[in-house]
Amino acid sequence: MTLLRVRRGRSPNCSAVGSVVGIAIVSAMVGAAVVNAWAERFLRWTGEGTPPEGSGSPGPGSDPSTPRLRPEAFGAIVAWPEPAALLYVDHEGAADALAAGARPIGGQPSPDGALSAPTEVHLAVSERCPVACTGCYLDAGPEREPTDPSYASLRAALHEAAAMGVFEVAFGGGEAVLRDDLLDLAAEARALGLTPNLTTSGFGVTPERAARMAILFGQVNVSLDGLPGTYEKVRGWDGAAIGLKALDLLRDAGLRTGVNTVLSRQNWDHLPALSAELAARGVSEWQWVRFKPTGRGADAYAELALTPGQAEQILPVALELEASTGLTLRTDCALVPFLAAHEPPPDLLERLGVTGCVGGESLWTRKADGAWRPCSFAEDPEMSSRDEGAMADLWQDSPTLQDWRDYAEHAPEPCASCTYRSVCRGGCRVVARHVTGAPFSPDPECPRVRAS
Ligand code: SF4
Ligand code: SF4
Repeated sequence: MTLLRVRRGRSPNCSAVGSVVGIAIVSAMVGAAVVNAWAERFLRWTGEGTPPEGSGSPGPGSDPSTPRLRPEAFGAIVAWPEPAALLYVDHEGAADALAAGARPIGGQPSPDGALSAPTEVHLAVSERCPVACTGCYLDAGPEREPTDPSYASLRAALHEAAAMGVFEVAFGGGEAVLRDDLLDLAAEARALGLTPNLTTSGFGVTPERAARMAILFGQVNVSLDGLPGTYEKVRGWDGAAIGLKALDLLRDAGLRTGVNTVLSRQNWDHLPALSAELAARGVSEWQWVRFKPTGRGADAYAELALTPGQAEQILPVALELEASTGLTLRTDCALVPFLAAHEPPPDLLERLGVTGCVGGESLWTRKADGAWRPCSFAEDPEMSSRDEGAMADLWQDSPTLQDWRDYAEHAPEPCASCTYRSVCRGGCRVVARHVTGAPFSPDPECPRVRAS
């Protein structure tokens, strides 16, 4: 059996399929040890019948104990319940896992340049939001006429996703927690065998809701761009106290809780202070997110996005903060060009599941208006049509998704000859669209592109 790739953790964000970033991605020895540890865990299960950790006691926030298996052209993806990971295995590994009792799901053919189905689907369940953050990618806020999809339409999407073999569903907004039926949707997802995750700013998280969330969700991430004062510099209002309170409630309820921080020139120097606070509060995971120039974020981009000098320091700063706090750090798909700038071993990145632009490859998003997009930030008609229809058919045939896959496979120079192209997939289409006007062009902020 060959373990082709390990993608650790869960995917609670709209730009997730995030990559765990730590010493393992820069040290061949540590990276190999991580992959080997997962291979041994898999072999113990398939060879000796040693069950996954947490089996028989799916407590708060954990998945049901049976690994799910989805056939793919290369073999299969096995969703390991605890600690959560997606294991990409060859055909022999797939056969062993089925013999060991893995639950088969999905199974349709893969379109060119993609998996047979997304590993993760993001569902925007509301555009309502009680506040209007400066850089909101949706332009959400209290003044906006809300567009909330019906419960029935979201339920139908969950059923279709489960039938396709999707592993995880990330609920987001606007502010998803403002929906009274959010927990019913999460329960529906659970019943279908999907792992529901959530991103929230913290509004509406009460002790009672946190207790129910802990039973239903795989992971909840709280958006927190800084501690009081810095948060306001980034978002235009100060929601740090709300976010921190939600973090405490969720942690006390026993939920696996992460934090999303949008990297900005306004919070860059504040990251060490924030990291210490998050570690002290028992946060499980800290996800760094690239600022996306969509919605109000397009107007705020010049003022808030990282400077080139800051962006080039993302990996060393991440490694330093991870070492000093013990936090698990993840970066989103759009930050991969800045990791590649430090020349970590590309095959190690591949095996550790570090992946750039995943829109249409393993990620898919349903916007609040019911349309499907390759990623949550792809609103522009030049980069994404408004796809509607049966999910399995769209995943196979959508011209938009095929354009995105084709670009990732055949990106022009300097991406074409870049050692990291198969990992990075050409950088962020949304940033390329904003900065150059051409979404299907190399990410203009990638240090390698800038140097070319
Ligand atoms: S365009 Fe690609 S890299 Fe950018 S946020 Fe979307 S999926 Fe991620
Ligand atoms: S040159 Fe292209 S493929 Fe290489 S790291 Fe930069 S954006 Fe990614």
